[in-house]
This record gives sequence, structure tokens and C-alpha cells, in this order.
Amino acid sequence: MRAFAFHRPPSVADAIDAHSASGTNSFVAGGTTLIDLVKLDVMRPERVIDINRLPLAQIETLPDGRLKIGALVRNSDLAWHAEVKARYPVLSAALLSGASPQLRNMATTAGNLMQRTRCPYFRDNLSPCNKRAPGSGCAALDGYNRMHALLGASEACIATHPSDMCVALAALDATIVVQGSAGERAIPFGEFHLLPGDTPEKEHALGAGELITAIVLAPPPAGARQHYLKLRDRESFEFALASVAVVASLDGDRFGDVRLALGGVATKPWRSRAAEEVLRGAPANDATFRAAAEAALRDARPRRHNAFKVTLAQQAIRRALAEVVA
Ligand code: SF4
Repeated sequence: MRAFAFHRPPSVADAIDAHSASGTNSFVAGGTTLIDLVKLDVMRPERVIDINRLPLAQIETLPDGRLKIGALVRNSDLAWHAEVKARYPVLSAALLSGASPQLRNMATTAGNLMQRTRCPYFRDNLSPCNKRAPGSGCAALDGYNRMHALLGASEACIATHPSDMCVALAALDATIVVQGSAGERAIPFGEFHLLPGDTPEKEHALGAGELITAIVLAPPPAGARQHYLKLRDRESFEFALASVAVVASLDGDRFGDVRLALGGVATKPWRSRAAEEVLRGAPANDATFRAAAEAALRDARPRRHNAFKVTLAQQAIRRALAEVVA
């Protein structure tokens, strides 16, 4: 492992200053992504800025009913928080389906947003990888791409986004609050993660030195039902092959407002507007579920080993919708 400088800032402002300084700087909180990648020599920070002592670990209900989740809230604490379980069960379920209890006890909300792909070629310094070494190529295009993306990919990168939590946040229309030297700003969840395009090394909308301080959730739509379904190779400590988060209200036997997001099949947490359009106002029956599933995967571009995920994701959508309606 390469040597790096270690800094423990006493305040958010000091953390931002440290990250804005010249050189390659990384924030560390739970360390569940960064430390692995530093050991593998995939990430090479010259300075690691430990933000664990900053006052960003609270969950609070704002006067207008929104829920503000501090950047340093541990995944376990968030999943088991009484208000999250009661008002945002899709988020609780998504968190509890991810990683292992030990990892969830360490991993933080902001760290989960920032986690890097599990593409094996990204983690192997001997393989070409445009995300790790821009311009070097993509070993996954002609390599073993069973876990890779059907949606949102480019010829430069087909890596999936690995988070479960983010799929739920996409369906909940979360807002990400960040702070930088120019002050605070809010980023709508759908604009935070970037598609790979020609620059897969650029993964998010954060500017230099900007620090995520919180995630804010609006109250769920009145009467909305929520469900998270994750399909994977084994039932624990495994990434999704396909996952679905649904937040839906019913008006009699028809869908009202619906938000649907997919995980495990796209290069970023994937809000499926196409499926939502099919569902909104339609009868809540299997014909509608099937039509929504087809719409959600209409733009899928399967590769050599991952074509099975088209059917798998469609089945997952049908099952998740049936569960919500039931
Ligand atoms: Fe790298 Fe993306 Fe290709 Fe994986 S899919 S090797 S992360 S460029």
C-alpha cells in the first residue's frame, strides 16, 4: 500500500479546505470502499481526510415534515430508525438487503452514495479500464460481463452501480445536500450520479472540495405503498442481478402516483420513467405489470453474458408491483 497523509479536520469548513487543496484528496468515513481500493492500488489518494468526527450523524424531522439524514449516519442506524421503518420502508428494506451486518454497521449514508463499481476489471490493475485509467479501454466489453449493465451504458464503460440504498432513494425522489467553498446547494437525486458516456471516470455531480452533508426525503405521497425486491445469486452479502424499488399509491383498482427504480441493471440508480408512464392511471393487474416491465427494459442493450438479466429484471418488476398491490 502506498503512503498517504492523514488529516482529521475539526469542522466541515476545514474538511472542505483540505479537500480543495492541490493533490489527490479523498474523504473517508466508514472506509468500506476506499480502504479496499487503496489496498488494491486502484485508488491512490495523497491525502485521506477523516470526516468521522464532524457533526453529520443525526436523523431529524424538519418542521415541514421532511426527513433529514446526516451524511455520517451508519447504514444500520438508518435502516432501523423508527421513522424510516414507518414512513420509508422501501429504504429500510433496501439497506438491509445490502452487504453484511458488519459492513452496514460501518458504511455511511454519503459513503453509500459514493461507492464505486464492483466491476472486477476496475479492481484489477492489470486490466484495461476506462474508469480507472481513462483511455485504456474496457476489458468488460469482450470479457466476462454477466454482472454488467443493460441500461445507460456506453462503449467506454458498462459497469453497474452497486448500491441498493440508492435504488430506494431514486424512487423516493431524494435530494442531496452538499457544501463547498461557495456555500450549500441541493442536487436532485436523479442528477447526482452521471452516465458514463465518454468519461466514465466522472461518476457524480460533486465539484472539487464539495462534501455531502445530508440527504433529505420529502414525505411519501399520501397512502403510498412501498416495496423493495432484490434478486441475486445468493441470499446474503451479494450484489443485485436485478432489483426494484416501488413507491405507488392506488386509486381504487387503478394506480395513482407511481415511482419505480431499478438496480443491478444500469450504470446508475435507474428511475424508469417509461414504466411509470405505463402504470400511472392504469388498472393494477398483471397485464399492466407486464406492459410496465416491457417498457422499462425496452432500451436494454444486452452483452454476451448478461442477456438473462432482461427477463430477470422484467420478472422482478412484475413481482414487485404484484407485492405492492397485494
Ligand atoms: Fe472499467 Fe467500466 Fe469497463 Fe468495468 S465496465 S472495465 S469499470 S470501463
